[in-house]
Amino acid sequence: MAWRSQSDSNEGLIQQLKENGIIKNEMVANAMKMTDRKLYCRVAYPYVDRPHSIGFSATISAPHMHAFALENLFDFIKPGCRILDVGSGSGFLTACFSRLIDAKSVNSNEKSLVIGIEHHPKLVEFSIGNLNSDDIKFIEEGKIKIIQGDGRLGCKEFAPYDCIHVGAAAADIPSELLNQLKPNGRLLCPVGLAGETQQMEQYDKTASGEIMKKTLMSVVYVPLTDLNE
Ligand code: SAH
Repeated sequence: MAWRSQSDSNEGLIQQLKENGIIKNEMVANAMKMTDRKLYCRVAYPYVDRPHSIGFSATISAPHMHAFALENLFDFIKPGCRILDVGSGSGFLTACFSRLIDAKSVNSNEKSLVIGIEHHPKLVEFSIGNLNSDDIKFIEEGKIKIIQGDGRLGCKEFAPYDCIHVGAAAADIPSELLNQLKPNGRLLCPVGLAGETQQMEQYDKTASGEIMKKTLMSVVYVPLTDLNE
Protein backbone atom coordinates (compact mmCIF):
# COMPACT_ATOMS: atom_id res chain seq x y z
CA MET A 1 0.00 0.00 0.00
CA ALA A 2 2.89 2.41 0.66
CA TRP A 3 4.16 4.35 -2.39
CA ARG A 4 0.84 3.91 -4.19
CA SER A 5 -0.18 7.39 -3.20
CA GLN A 6 1.93 10.31 -4.32
CA SER A 7 1.34 13.81 -5.57
CA ASP A 8 2.94 17.20 -6.02
CA SER A 9 0.70 18.74 -3.37
CA ASN A 10 -0.48 17.87 0.14
CA GLU A 11 -4.09 18.06 -0.98
CA GLY A 12 -3.34 15.71 -3.89
CA LEU A 13 -1.67 13.20 -1.56
CA ILE A 14 -4.67 13.16 0.79
CA GLN A 15 -7.03 12.77 -2.17
CA GLN A 16 -5.04 9.72 -3.29
CA LEU A 17 -5.12 8.23 0.21
CA LYS A 18 -8.91 8.62 0.07
CA GLU A 19 -9.17 7.06 -3.38
CA ASN A 20 -6.98 4.16 -2.26
CA GLY A 21 -9.37 3.52 0.64
CA ILE A 22 -6.84 4.40 3.35
CA ILE A 23 -8.65 7.52 4.58
CA LYS A 24 -12.35 6.85 5.05
CA ASN A 25 -13.38 9.66 7.34
CA GLU A 26 -13.86 13.16 5.92
CA MET A 27 -12.77 14.84 9.18
CA VAL A 28 -9.53 12.86 9.15
CA ALA A 29 -9.00 13.89 5.51
CA ASN A 30 -9.55 17.54 6.40
CA ALA A 31 -7.18 17.47 9.37
CA MET A 32 -4.46 15.93 7.17
CA LYS A 33 -5.14 18.35 4.32
CA MET A 34 -4.73 21.32 6.65
CA THR A 35 -1.44 19.90 7.98
CA ASP A 36 1.01 20.39 5.13
CA ARG A 37 3.57 17.57 5.28
CA LYS A 38 6.27 19.76 3.75
CA LEU A 39 6.38 21.80 6.98
CA TYR A 40 7.24 18.65 8.96
CA CYS A 41 9.89 17.04 6.74
CA ARG A 42 12.21 19.20 4.72
CA VAL A 43 12.68 16.86 1.75
CA ALA A 44 12.41 17.37 -2.00
CA TYR A 45 9.32 15.16 -2.39
CA PRO A 46 7.27 15.25 0.82
CA TYR A 47 3.99 14.15 -0.79
CA VAL A 48 4.86 10.48 -1.25
CA ASP A 49 3.29 7.79 0.92
CA ARG A 50 6.49 6.63 2.59
CA PRO A 51 8.43 7.47 5.76
CA HIS A 52 11.18 10.11 5.46
CA SER A 53 14.22 10.59 7.62
CA ILE A 54 14.06 13.55 10.01
CA GLY A 55 17.56 12.85 11.37
CA PHE A 56 18.70 11.41 14.72
CA SER A 57 17.64 7.85 13.68
CA ALA A 58 14.03 9.00 13.44
CA THR A 59 11.54 9.14 10.60
CA ILE A 60 8.28 10.94 10.00
CA SER A 61 5.89 8.03 9.57
CA ALA A 62 4.30 7.30 6.21
CA PRO A 63 1.05 9.22 5.60
CA HIS A 64 -0.96 5.98 5.51
CA MET A 65 0.21 5.21 9.07
CA HIS A 66 -0.76 8.71 10.24
CA ALA A 67 -4.15 8.19 8.60
CA PHE A 68 -4.50 4.78 10.22
CA ALA A 69 -3.80 6.18 13.69
CA LEU A 70 -6.27 9.06 13.25
CA GLU A 71 -8.99 6.75 11.97
CA ASN A 72 -8.41 4.22 14.73
CA LEU A 73 -8.48 6.82 17.52
CA PHE A 74 -11.23 8.96 15.93
CA ASP A 75 -13.97 8.15 18.48
CA PHE A 76 -11.64 8.90 21.40
CA ILE A 77 -10.81 12.40 20.13
CA LYS A 78 -13.43 14.75 21.53
CA PRO A 79 -13.97 18.16 23.09
CA GLY A 80 -12.11 18.45 26.39
CA CYS A 81 -9.98 15.38 25.74
CA ARG A 82 -6.33 14.80 26.58
CA ILE A 83 -4.15 13.00 24.06
CA LEU A 84 -0.59 11.76 24.51
CA ASP A 85 1.56 11.27 21.39
CA VAL A 86 4.64 9.27 22.41
CA GLY A 87 7.70 9.68 20.16
CA SER A 88 6.12 12.73 18.54
CA GLY A 89 9.13 13.21 16.22
CA SER A 90 8.26 15.75 13.53
CA GLY A 91 5.07 16.88 15.30
CA PHE A 92 2.91 16.11 12.25
CA LEU A 93 0.51 13.71 13.96
CA THR A 94 0.42 15.88 17.09
CA ALA A 95 -0.84 18.75 14.89
CA CYS A 96 -3.46 16.50 13.24
CA PHE A 97 -4.76 15.43 16.67
CA SER A 98 -5.17 19.07 17.65
CA ARG A 99 -6.97 19.91 14.39
CA LEU A 100 -9.34 16.97 14.79
CA ILE A 101 -10.19 18.12 18.32
CA ASP A 102 -10.85 21.64 16.99
CA ALA A 103 -13.10 20.29 14.24
CA LYS A 104 -15.08 18.33 16.82
CA SER A 105 -15.24 21.25 19.27
CA VAL A 106 -17.16 23.84 17.23
CA ASN A 107 -19.97 23.88 19.80
CA SER A 108 -17.79 23.45 22.86
CA ASN A 109 -15.60 25.64 25.03
CA GLU A 110 -13.97 22.71 26.82
CA LYS A 111 -10.21 22.95 26.98
CA SER A 112 -8.40 20.06 25.31
CA LEU A 113 -4.71 19.27 25.31
CA VAL A 114 -2.37 17.29 23.10
CA ILE A 115 0.97 16.36 24.63
CA GLY A 116 3.81 15.26 22.37
CA ILE A 117 6.61 13.54 24.25
CA GLU A 118 9.91 13.12 22.45
CA HIS A 119 13.24 12.14 23.98
CA HIS A 120 15.68 13.70 21.51
CA PRO A 121 16.29 17.39 22.33
CA LYS A 122 17.03 18.26 18.69
CA LEU A 123 13.73 16.71 17.60
CA VAL A 124 11.89 18.56 20.35
CA GLU A 125 13.34 21.77 18.89
CA PHE A 126 12.60 20.63 15.31
CA SER A 127 8.97 19.81 16.07
CA ILE A 128 8.34 23.05 17.94
CA GLY A 129 9.71 24.94 14.91
CA ASN A 130 7.52 22.87 12.57
CA LEU A 131 4.39 23.43 14.65
CA ASN A 132 5.04 27.18 14.91
CA SER A 133 5.57 27.45 11.17
CA ASP A 134 2.26 25.63 10.62
CA ASP A 135 0.08 27.50 13.14
CA ILE A 136 1.54 29.75 15.84
CA LYS A 137 -1.60 29.19 17.95
CA PHE A 138 -0.87 25.49 18.57
CA ILE A 139 1.71 26.15 21.25
CA GLU A 140 1.00 29.81 22.01
CA GLU A 141 -2.63 29.08 22.95
CA GLY A 142 -1.71 25.94 24.88
CA LYS A 143 -3.43 23.46 22.55
CA ILE A 144 -0.20 21.49 22.16
CA LYS A 145 2.74 21.00 24.51
CA ILE A 146 5.93 19.28 23.37
CA ILE A 147 7.76 17.76 26.28
CA GLN A 148 11.24 16.27 26.35
CA GLY A 149 11.37 12.96 28.14
CA ASP A 150 11.30 9.19 28.00
CA GLY A 151 7.92 8.44 26.46
CA ARG A 152 7.94 4.89 27.83
CA LEU A 153 7.12 6.49 31.17
CA GLY A 154 4.30 8.54 29.65
CA CYS A 155 3.73 12.00 31.08
CA LYS A 156 2.24 11.79 34.56
CA GLU A 157 1.86 15.56 34.88
CA PHE A 158 -1.08 15.68 32.46
CA ALA A 159 -2.43 12.12 32.88
CA PRO A 160 -4.87 10.45 32.55
CA TYR A 161 -5.40 10.47 28.78
CA ASP A 162 -8.42 9.68 26.61
CA CYS A 163 -6.08 8.23 24.05
CA ILE A 164 -2.39 7.51 23.72
CA HIS A 165 -0.59 6.99 20.43
CA VAL A 166 2.88 5.51 20.34
CA GLY A 167 4.93 6.33 17.23
CA ALA A 168 7.76 3.85 17.87
CA ALA A 169 7.79 0.17 18.79
CA ALA A 170 7.73 -0.86 22.45
CA ALA A 171 9.69 -4.03 23.22
CA ASP A 172 6.96 -5.22 25.54
CA ILE A 173 3.49 -4.31 26.83
CA PRO A 174 3.66 -0.58 27.67
CA SER A 175 2.32 -0.98 31.21
CA GLU A 176 3.10 2.53 32.47
CA LEU A 177 1.20 3.97 29.50
CA LEU A 178 -1.77 1.73 30.30
CA ASN A 179 -1.72 3.13 33.85
CA GLN A 180 -2.05 6.64 32.41
CA LEU A 181 -5.04 5.77 30.21
CA LYS A 182 -8.53 6.88 31.29
CA PRO A 183 -11.30 4.32 31.71
CA ASN A 184 -12.99 4.05 28.27
CA GLY A 185 -9.72 5.19 26.70
CA ARG A 186 -7.59 3.65 23.97
CA LEU A 187 -3.85 3.08 23.58
CA LEU A 188 -2.48 2.33 20.11
CA CYS A 189 1.07 0.99 20.15
CA PRO A 190 3.36 -1.09 17.93
CA VAL A 191 4.88 -3.87 20.06
CA GLY A 192 7.88 -6.04 19.17
CA LEU A 193 11.63 -5.89 18.79
CA ALA A 194 13.39 -3.83 16.12
CA GLY A 195 14.14 -5.96 13.08
CA GLU A 196 11.52 -8.56 14.07
CA THR A 197 7.84 -8.68 13.23
CA GLN A 198 6.05 -6.07 15.28
CA GLN A 199 2.30 -5.98 15.83
CA MET A 200 0.12 -2.91 16.04
CA GLU A 201 -1.72 -3.48 19.29
CA GLN A 202 -4.89 -1.71 20.39
CA TYR A 203 -5.54 -1.65 24.14
CA ASP A 204 -8.97 -0.50 25.29
CA LYS A 205 -9.54 0.21 28.98
CA THR A 206 -13.09 -0.55 30.04
CA ALA A 207 -15.11 1.62 32.43
CA SER A 208 -14.09 -0.74 35.24
CA GLY A 209 -10.40 -0.57 34.30
CA GLU A 210 -10.06 -3.93 32.53
CA ILE A 211 -7.71 -4.01 29.51
CA MET A 212 -8.97 -5.50 26.25
CA LYS A 213 -6.17 -6.11 23.74
CA LYS A 214 -6.63 -6.52 19.99
CA THR A 215 -3.85 -7.20 17.48
CA LEU A 216 -4.52 -5.14 14.36
CA MET A 217 -1.70 -5.84 11.87
CA SER A 218 2.02 -6.41 11.36
CA VAL A 219 4.05 -3.21 11.14
CA VAL A 220 7.62 -1.93 10.91
CA TYR A 221 8.52 0.90 13.30
CA VAL A 222 11.75 2.29 14.70
CA PRO A 223 12.07 1.17 18.33
CA LEU A 224 11.49 3.18 21.49
CA THR A 225 15.02 3.47 22.78
CA ASP A 226 17.09 4.74 25.65
CA LEU A 227 18.60 8.08 24.61
CA ASN A 228 21.81 7.35 26.52
CA GLU A 229 22.61 4.06 24.81
N1 SAH B 1 4.91 10.13 14.80
C1 SAH B 1 6.25 10.58 14.56
C2 SAH B 1 7.15 9.36 14.55
C3 SAH B 1 8.58 9.69 14.72
S1 SAH B 1 9.63 8.23 14.71
C4 SAH B 1 6.27 11.28 13.21
O1 SAH B 1 5.56 10.83 12.31
O2 SAH B 1 6.99 12.26 13.04
C5 SAH B 1 9.64 7.80 16.41
C6 SAH B 1 10.12 8.85 17.35
O3 SAH B 1 10.20 8.26 18.63
C7 SAH B 1 11.50 9.43 17.05
O4 SAH B 1 11.36 10.81 16.94
C8 SAH B 1 12.35 9.04 18.27
O5 SAH B 1 13.30 10.03 18.63
C9 SAH B 1 11.27 8.89 19.33
N2 SAH B 1 11.63 8.03 20.46
C10 SAH B 1 12.30 6.84 20.45
N3 SAH B 1 12.41 6.35 21.71
C11 SAH B 1 11.79 7.26 22.53
C12 SAH B 1 11.58 7.32 23.94
N4 SAH B 1 12.03 6.36 24.77
N5 SAH B 1 10.91 8.36 24.43
C13 SAH B 1 10.46 9.36 23.62
N6 SAH B 1 10.64 9.36 22.29
C14 SAH B 1 11.29 8.32 21.74
